Amino acid sequence: MLRDLPAVNGFLAEPRIAGFLASFGSTAVKAAVDGVLEATRRAALGGGGAIPPFETLVAAVEGRLLRAQTQGLIEVINATGILLHTNLGRAPLADEALDAMRRIGHGYSNLEFDLDSGARGSRYERLGTLLRATTGADDSLVVNNCAAAILLILDTFAKGREVVVARNQLIEIGGGFRLPDVLARSGATLVEVGATNRVYLRDFERALTAQTALLLRSHPSNYRIDGFTAEVAGADLAALARRAGVPSVEDLGGGVLVDLETYGLPHERTVQEAVADGIDLIAFSGDKLLGGLQAGIIVGKRARIARMRANPLLRALRVDKTTIAGLAATLQLYLSADGIARIPFYAMLGASIASLRERAERLCASIEFPAARLTVVETAGRAGGGSLPVTAIPSIGLAIEAVPRNPNAIAAALRAHRPPVIARALDRSVVLDLRTVPPDRDAELAASIRAALTR
Ligand SMILES: *Cc1c(COP(=O)(O)O)cnc(C)c1O
Repeated sequence: MLRDLPAVNGFLAEPRIAGFLASFGSTAVKAAVDGVLEATRRAALGGGGAIPPFETLVAAVEGRLLRAQTQGLIEVINATGILLHTNLGRAPLADEALDAMRRIGHGYSNLEFDLDSGARGSRYERLGTLLRATTGADDSLVVNNCAAAILLILDTFAKGREVVVARNQLIEIGGGFRLPDVLARSGATLVEVGATNRVYLRDFERALTAQTALLLRSHPSNYRIDGFTAEVAGADLAALARRAGVPSVEDLGGGVLVDLETYGLPHERTVQEAVADGIDLIAFSGDKLLGGLQAGIIVGKRARIARMRANPLLRALRVDKTTIAGLAATLQLYLSADGIARIPFYAMLGASIASLRERAERLCASIEFPAARLTVVETAGRAGGGSLPVTAIPSIGLAIEAVPRNPNAIAAALRAHRPPVIARALDRSVVLDLRTVPPDRDAELAASIRAALTR
C-alpha cells in the first residue's frame, strides 16, 4: 500500500502546487509535500487504511502552503465597537501618518544627522518641537511604548530607593504589566500609602524619607473605584514632590490631547492638564487616545528628561524612523485646523448616530437572506485599550439571527472569511457594530456577511 504513495515530483508538477515555487522556493514547497506524505504514511501504517486519492493530498499540501503564506499579520474588519482594541492593533493610523512613514521608510532621513552642522544628531530631538506645541511641556523623550517609558523613569530615578504610590492606583494594565512587579524589576521599593478607596496628601507626606526617589501617580485606566473615595490632586502631588526635592511622575496611559467632552464623553484628564499641574514627568501611549503609533511618550521638565537621555538603557528602548515619522505627522494633525477629524480614532468617535443608522439600514436592505433575520440595533461601544473603562459609547449595529445556526457558528464563519470580520456573539444573535468599521468597507462587510450565512 505504501507503494501507492505518490512521488514528490508528481506534486511539484501540479499547477496548484507549482504556483508556490515562485513565491516560496522549492525547499519550502518540498517540505510541505514531505510533511503531508509523512502524515499520510503514518496514518496508513497506524490505521491500515487506504492512501487517500492524489487530489486530496494535493489539497492538503496547498492548505499547508496557504497557511504558511498568511503567517504574518492579516488585516481584519473590526466590528466589535471597541475602538482601541489591543488585540486588533489599537489605533488605526491617519493617512498623513502612513504617507510620512512610507516616505521616510522608503529611503534615508536625518534620523541621527544634524543638517546644519553635518555632524551626528539625536533621534530623540526629532519630535521635540511638536510635543512642546501640543502638550506645553518643556522637553520630551519617545521610547517603544508606555511600559518602556515607566521602566526608563524608574531605572533612572528609583533604583535601590523608594517609590511612593497611592494604594488605589497600584494597577495591572493587562498583558502582565503590574505596577508593583515593574517597580520590583527596576530595583525600586514600593511604598503604598492610603487606603484602597481614600488617599490623602498627608499620606504621601508621612511616607517621605531620605530614601524617597519619586512620587508616582497612575491613571486607573481599566477600572474605577466608586463611592466613598478621595484621591490626591495632581497639582498637590507635584507641589509636595517639589518641596521634597524629588520628581513627581504621572503614568497617564491614554494620553489624550483634546477635551473628550466635545465628543459627548466624560472629561478625561489631558496631557496638557498634567503639564499645567507641574508634574515633572508624564508618560503616555502613542497608540491609545492619541490615535497614533505604538510608542511611549514622556514629556516634562528639561533637567529630568536630560538625566533619562543619559541612561544607557534608552538604547534598548528606542523607536525607529518610521515610528518617529508617523508620530510627527499625527501630532501635526492636532495643530492643523481640521486635522483631528482626520485621525481615525476621532473620526470614528465623531460619527453621528444618524449616519451610523443610515449605513446599518442600507446594509440590512442589501443583504436579503431567506434563513436569517437582520435588524438594526442600538449598541454600546467602548474606547478600549484600557481607556475610559466604564464609559459606553452609544453606537449602532447590525444584529444577525439565523436560527438554527447558533451565533458562535456565525461569528466563526465571519472570522474565517477573508478579510476576517470580528463581531460579537450574544445569546441569540451576532452583533456587528458599525462605529469601528470604516464606511468605505460597507460593501465588503455585506459580502462577508452573505458568505458567512451561506457557509
Ligand atoms: C496602557 C497603559 C500603559 C501601557 O502602555 P503601553 O503603551 O501599552 O505600553 C501603562 N500605564 C497605563 C496607566 C496604561 O493605561
